[in-house]
Amino acid sequence: MRQKLAAGNWKMNGTADALSELNELTQGYPEAAVDILICSPATLIDRASEAAAGSAVAIGGQDCHAKVNGAHTGDISAEMLRDAGASYVIIGHSERRDDHGETSEMIAAKATAAYDAGLIAVVCCGEHLNTREDGKTLDHIGTQIAESLPDTANADTTVIAYEPVWAIGTGLTPTLEQIAEVHDFIRAELVNRFGEETGNGIRLLYGGSVKPANAAEIFATSNVDGALVGGASLKAADFSAIIDALVAA
Ligand code: PEP
Repeated sequence: MRQKLAAGNWKMNGTADALSELNELTQGYPEAAVDILICSPATLIDRASEAAAGSAVAIGGQDCHAKVNGAHTGDISAEMLRDAGASYVIIGHSERRDDHGETSEMIAAKATAAYDAGLIAVVCCGEHLNTREDGKTLDHIGTQIAESLPDTANADTTVIAYEPVWAIGTGLTPTLEQIAEVHDFIRAELVNRFGEETGNGIRLLYGGSVKPANAAEIFATSNVDGALVGGASLKAADFSAIIDALVAA
C-alpha cells in the first residue's frame, strides 16, 4: 500500500505573512491519514518548520544544489535545507528545467544529493504541449524518468510528480485517460528498472491545475497517489479541500 501524499509548491510566493495560512493548515491537521507537505520558499523553511512542528504537515524545499557546499553563490545545498527543517525537496520542476536550463543529468545529481542529506526527493517530469501534440509524450516521459532518477532511487527516498507543462498554472488539465496513460506507463517503467517491490512502491503524484473541484476525480485515477499543487496550495482552505479529497479517495 503506497501512502498518499498531498504536496504544495508555494513557488516564489510568500513572506512572513504567509505563515498564517500555514498555521491554519497545521491546526486543521494535527494528524492525518495521508502525508501532507508544503514546499515553501527557502527563506521561510525554518519558520515554517517551527510552525508545523507537532502537526501532520512536513516542510520541503523547491530545489537544491548537487554539491554539499562550496563556491556556488545564491545556491542552497540539500544539507542546508535539512538543517533548516526540510524533510523533502522538489527536484527538476519544469520551471527549473525551463528557467535555469536544468538537464535530467543535473537533476539526477541533485536527487543523489537529496538522498545523501536524508531528504525525500520529489522528482518532476512532464511534456510541453508541442510534444503531446506530436504524439511523443510517453517517449519524452520515459527518457526524463530514465535520466533523472539515480540507480539508488527507492520508495523511501523518491516520489515522482508527473506535471504536463501546459497544465501548470493554466487551468487546463489532461483528461483522466491521459493522466492514467502516463501514470501507468511510469509505473511500468519503474517496475522494469527497479523491480516489483521498489517499482510498485514509489509514489506517483499528478500536478497541473489541481483544484478542490477536480481533485476527487484525479485521485480516483489509476496509479495517482496524490498531487503536487501550486496555486491552490497557497490558501489553507483550498489545500485542505484537496487533502480531504485525497483522504476520501
Ligand atoms: C506546480 O507548481 O507544480 C503546479 C502544478 O502548479 P499549479 O497547481 O498552479 O498548476
